Amino acid sequence: MNYFSSLESMSKKYDKISRAYALRDDSTEIFSKWQRETRKKLIRLIGLEGCGKSSLNAKMRWKEKREGYWKESWMIQTEPEIYMPFYILKPIDVQNIPDSPALIIPHGHGTNGKEGMVTEDPPGFAVSFARKGYCVFCPDGRGDGERREFPQQEDSENRQLLNSHREIQQMALGFGQCYLGLMIWDLMRLLDFIDSLSYVDHNRIGCAGMSGGGQLTIWLAALDERVQAAATSGYFYGMKESLLELPQNCSCNYVPGLWGAVDMGDIGALICPRPLWIESGEKDPLNGKHGMKNVYSQVQITRRAYKLSDQEDRLKHVVHSGAHEWRGQGLIDFFDDFLKDGRL
Ligand SMILES: [Zn+2]
Repeated sequence: MNYFSSLESMSKKYDKISRAYALRDDSTEIFSKWQRETRKKLIRLIGLEGCGKSSLNAKMRWKEKREGYWKESWMIQTEPEIYMPFYILKPIDVQNIPDSPALIIPHGHGTNGKEGMVTEDPPGFAVSFARKGYCVFCPDGRGDGERREFPQQEDSENRQLLNSHREIQQMALGFGQCYLGLMIWDLMRLLDFIDSLSYVDHNRIGCAGMSGGGQLTIWLAALDERVQAAATSGYFYGMKESLLELPQNCSCNYVPGLWGAVDMGDIGALICPRPLWIESGEKDPLNGKHGMKNVYSQVQITRRAYKLSDQEDRLKHVVHSGAHEWRGQGLIDFFDDFLKDGRL
C-alpha cells in the first residue's frame, strides 16, 4: 500500500518560514528591544489576551504538619469559573523568617498532577526545598489531577495518570487560544497570589520543572520577569526535530504560529540575564533525530544572549547520560546561589 504522508512537506515548509523573531544580539539596546517585541509576539500567539479577569478568591482548604515543613492545600480562581488547586510546602519555622525564597514547581505528564511533585519517600525536589527554607508551590495543571475534564475523571489508579490536555487544547483553539497559554495565565495568577504573601520575598522567586513542567517553566520565565531564576529539564531542543517531526507528542506542546516566530533558544534568551539552568539527557528520545546536536544548537543561541549581557556564568547546561529524566545534579546549589545567597 502507498502512503502519502504530510511530514516531509511540513518539514520543508518549516525551513522556509521559521524564526521571524530570531534572537537579535547586535548590541544591548537592540537585544532589549528584541526581548520586548518577542515577548509581545509570544503573548499574542499563546492567546493570553483572551483570558478572563477575575478576583483570586484564595482559599486554604486544609493544612497538616509534615516532617520539617507544613503542607497546605489551597485554591485560587484564575479566570471566571476556573479554579486552580495547589499545594504550598512551607518551612516549619516560616513565621520566624519573613522573607523566604519561593519556588514554583509545575508538574509534567503522568504524575497525577501536583501529587507526583510532593512525594516524601524518597523526598522529591519540592519536599527537599521546603526543608531547606523555601516556600514551594505545586499547582495542578489544567486537565490534570483535580482539574481533569469528565472523560478522565473516574478515579481508578490508571485514570489518575491520564490528563485532559487534548480536550482543553481542542476547546481553546476555536477561541484563538491554546493549552499552553491557558497554563501560563494560571501560573501568572499564581504569581499574583504569591505577590500577596507577606512571608515570601518577592524578589526571590524561582521556577523549576521537568518535561511538560520544564516547558511551562521556560515559557513562564520568558514572559514574566517576576520569575528571578529558572531551571528546566528534558525540554530544551530545536522545535523542528522535537515537536514538528514528533507529532505524536501530547497536544499541549503545540502553539498556532509558533514555528514562524521563534525556536527554543530564542525563548531561553528571553530569560537573560536572569539565571537559567538547563538539564538534558543524552539518550532522551525527545531530543529529536540528531540527539544532543539538536540540543546544543539551542543552548548556543541562548548562550549568545548571556554573553552579550556579560552574564555567562548565569547560564548552566548540565548533561547527564540518561534519557528523559530529572536528575537535578547541582539544582539545589543553583537556586541556593541565586535565591538564598543574594547573588541576584
Ligand atoms: Zn500534555
